[in-house]
Amino acid sequence: MKAIVVNEASTGVEVKDKPIPQIKHGEALVKVEYCGVCHTDLHVAHGDFGQVPGRILGHEGIGIVTEVADDVTSLKVGDRVSIAWFFEGCGHCEYCTTGRETLCRSVKNAGYNVDGGMSEYVVVTANYAVKVPEGLDPAQASSITCAGVTTYKAIKEAGAAPGKWIVIYGAGGLGNLAVQYAKKVFNTHVVAVDINADKLDLAKKVGADIIINAKEVEDVAARIQELTGGCHGAVVTAVSKVAFNQAVDSVRAGGTVVAVGLPSEYMELSIVKTVLDGIRVVGSLVGTRKDLEEAFDFGAQGLVVPVVQKRAVDDAPAIFNEMEAGQIQGRMVLDFTKEG
Ligand SMILES: [Zn+2]
Ligand SMILES: [Zn+2]
Repeated sequence: MKAIVVNEASTGVEVKDKPIPQIKHGEALVKVEYCGVCHTDLHVAHGDFGQVPGRILGHEGIGIVTEVADDVTSLKVGDRVSIAWFFEGCGHCEYCTTGRETLCRSVKNAGYNVDGGMSEYVVVTANYAVKVPEGLDPAQASSITCAGVTTYKAIKEAGAAPGKWIVIYGAGGLGNLAVQYAKKVFNTHVVAVDINADKLDLAKKVGADIIINAKEVEDVAARIQELTGGCHGAVVTAVSKVAFNQAVDSVRAGGTVVAVGLPSEYMELSIVKTVLDGIRVVGSLVGTRKDLEEAFDFGAQGLVVPVVQKRAVDDAPAIFNEMEAGQIQGRMVLDFTKEG
């Protein structure tokens, strides 16, 4: 079978022919239909989290179950399931048993410490593979598996509720989905902030009430305070320290700032404001199986529509190069339906 693997030097990816994997107890074999290409895959390919040469990449996989082990009861042949970054938790630690399984210290991540979805077939742990509902396009579902659930969870963490104000920093792939979840699922008022006019126009199209071009406004936080009275929550998808600092200043007392973007810097946090205004600052990483199930469901209802572009599997090395060069607009999804 064809698979996209980290090359021997851990500097990029290559297309390789690999044997179809065998299932063991508790597992299922999935024939992959689509797998999205994510910035995290680029980090893995470059060994940024530790080198994993030969690893099959991919944590935005969607496919159909073709075989299940004798003891599996949660999946059956023909089910459509996801292969997500949160591939498996230990199931018994304090995080796994308290609804915070993505924090499990023994977590397995698809396409990093176990083989992922960028191959014609992949083995999943049956109890951890989330089913994709009827009516959700599988290529769109691949995007919800990562960007979708990440933003859905972040919006939840921000305390989104009808009538509240949520500001989204960064209106790119993640930010655009965040606007959609905030507006269409939680019925909040939404402010979108970016430095790119095209991305802001798209944010407006999918429901942002106010868009702010940070390049054109001198004090972004002050402007937001003036227009909204301070937001109840802020979600920062921008990979920019400036955005994190602005986010803290744009929430009202009791507000929550949710960090999603990963600039390798420190944010400045006014201790006085944090204490006196009771500000919460929280990090949020992907989502649990239940979060993903919910995120899929809102996709199936047509409330949230990821924009994806299908590409041939053999294009994968080129896509990684384009990503490295910052040339990618929207989400690239490898189309495995044309293989085999
Ligand atoms: Zn991803
Ligand atoms: Zn655990």
